[in-house]
Amino acid sequence: MQDLIRRTAEIMKNSHKTVVVTGAGISTEAGIPDFRGENGIYRQLGEDRVMRIINIDFFRRNPEEFYSFYRQYFNFPAVEPSKAHYMLAQMEKEGYVYGVVTQNIDNLHQKAGSKKVIPIHGNAEQFICQERSCRAIYDAEYVKDYPETVPRCSRCGGIIKPDVVLFGENIYNYFDAREMILSAHLLIVIGSSLTVYPLAGFVREFCTFTQDLIIINKGPTYLDHAALIKIDTGTTGVVLEKIHEHLQRIK
Ligand code: NAD
Repeated sequence: MQDLIRRTAEIMKNSHKTVVVTGAGISTEAGIPDFRGENGIYRQLGEDRVMRIINIDFFRRNPEEFYSFYRQYFNFPAVEPSKAHYMLAQMEKEGYVYGVVTQNIDNLHQKAGSKKVIPIHGNAEQFICQERSCRAIYDAEYVKDYPETVPRCSRCGGIIKPDVVLFGENIYNYFDAREMILSAHLLIVIGSSLTVYPLAGFVREFCTFTQDLIIINKGPTYLDHAALIKIDTGTTGVVLEKIHEHLQRIK
């Protein structure tokens, strides 16, 4: 492990542009379970059921049932960023990391201080009125305190929707995210099994042009075979801290 950490730091040191891709695994240490892990809802409820409900068509047809489910299972605990989030923000500040493309909807990279973040699946702390002429934005407190299951806009009465990408919807900033990934000299994936598309597709595309892919994840991912380095760990914060220490040493 020490050798992999040292090699990662050396490759980062020589990289002109290091982009980081993150998934749910970077936030489990902060206290938010991933979907596919032991405590994840895919394991508890079955992937098909979750995908059927967390779906834009379902939301439009059955907002009441959608919100009953959403309120029960997507009520992310109010947590602080983990060490890994802070380390990435620090490395961005020092120029070792260019930016982050994340599948996460927990806003923790931004809270930790990362500036260049593309959250392609949105932000679970925000809700938006679905009336085209309104589009008012609400915070999670408004929805939590709303007296009915389906929260409505206080301005126009329209239904408001979590500002997250549901199944059947396009991701946010598709082109910016793809561009950031494909323009990287070094790509580091942290806490993602690389199952979810299109992000997994961007990483795959990156691998067809260059081999400079590093994966830091607990357990296998779909692109382990293509990675220059794979660090198998459940403590991404500790690993990033050690990489950072090495970077400081070879300054
Ligand atoms: P995933 O479940 O496919 O992959 C998560 C990976 O992280 C797994 O391989 C798991 O073994 C690994 N992992 C878990 N804990 C880890 C740890 N402590 N250290 C290192 N690795 C760890 O998740 P995904 O690929 O990110 O995609 C699932 C989808 O779920 C995404 O679309 C995402 O938007 C959504 N999601 C987001 C959050 C969040 O915002 N925090 C949480 C759950 C799910």
